Amino acid sequence: MAKSTPFFTSLKDLFAFLELPEPSTQVANSRFSFLVSRHFASKIEKNNPNDPLLREILPTAQENLQVEGFCDDPVGDSDSEKEPGILQKYKGRVLIEPTFACSLHCRFCFRRAEPKRSLENFLARFDAWLSQATDIHEVILSGGDPMMLPKAQLAELFQVILSKDHVKTVRIHTRTPISFPQVFDIENKASIYPLLQKLSQKKKLVVVVHVDHPNELDDASAKVFAALQELNAILLNQSTLLKGINDSGEVLTELSFKLFSQGVLPYYLHQLDHATGVAHFEISDAQALQIVEEVRQAVPGYLVPRLVREIAGEASKTPIVNPGR
Ligand SMILES: *Cc1c(COP(=O)(O)O)cnc(C)c1O
Ligand code: SF4
Repeated sequence: MAKSTPFFTSLKDLFAFLELPEPSTQVANSRFSFLVSRHFASKIEKNNPNDPLLREILPTAQENLQVEGFCDDPVGDSDSEKEPGILQKYKGRVLIEPTFACSLHCRFCFRRAEPKRSLENFLARFDAWLSQATDIHEVILSGGDPMMLPKAQLAELFQVILSKDHVKTVRIHTRTPISFPQVFDIENKASIYPLLQKLSQKKKLVVVVHVDHPNELDDASAKVFAALQELNAILLNQSTLLKGINDSGEVLTELSFKLFSQGVLPYYLHQLDHATGVAHFEISDAQALQIVEEVRQAVPGYLVPRLVREIAGEASKTPIVNPGR
């Protein structure tokens, strides 16, 4: 019975699947539950407790440490929230959070403290807000993972966007190409691909996938990206620098080349947002700059991601630059 669900929600089941000894202490983190799709879990190396993909999703006791400077709203989202689920920080672009559902719970997520709020009347409110916000040319779907919305709700959301001529671009931030590719599969009745197809006839599509390690990319992700390219979508990637996962020039060089082989260009490389419970993933700016320098020396210029940090109140993401330059 449990086999039929496409997710692991119990660490015990995941450890059995990975052929790892049962976790001795169940790390309870009531604030952010454990969840990973079977698809993502299938890319974790068996019997390797140090696998980088395992580290992305495995709850640890370090998450419960209180570290100074790490808080629940590290990037000032509540100050930029026009209404629940509607955020405008930057000119011409609005970011919406139509869902908080995800196909995996990344332990470093800066939205991990999001209250399990349900957004009342989101679509009607967004429709009204967007009608009067005629300077908005780009709608950014974030979350949670917007591609985890039930198909009927996504259809309604796209309808709202399609009804606004001033919106030229729809940008989708998602991990589903690497974690839950079945949502794009046309064989699957619940596939959202036909909705994207329709949207792309009127709006420019930009898909920003979130891949942190080259092992996340596989044949299934290549297939999703190829299908999105048929819609003339621009495919970009953002990563977060994570200690013990991708904090090396070698790993990020491999990531850039592998993304490129699947038709995706690196966009942002984020320094970690200071959310409660993620301090153990942080590396210093000096290390980050060193890593990016190594990547720059190994790949063509168009495969070098932009190293940035989000600072509350700034008019854009803030580039991290070498003070000596
Ligand atoms: C990051 C972000 C954007 C997008 O910024 P770009 O630099 O255009 O990628 C837009 N809105 C919010 C609230 C963001 O956090
Ligand atoms: S919002 Fe993104 S980073 Fe956070 S848990 Fe969901 S998929 Fe992971």
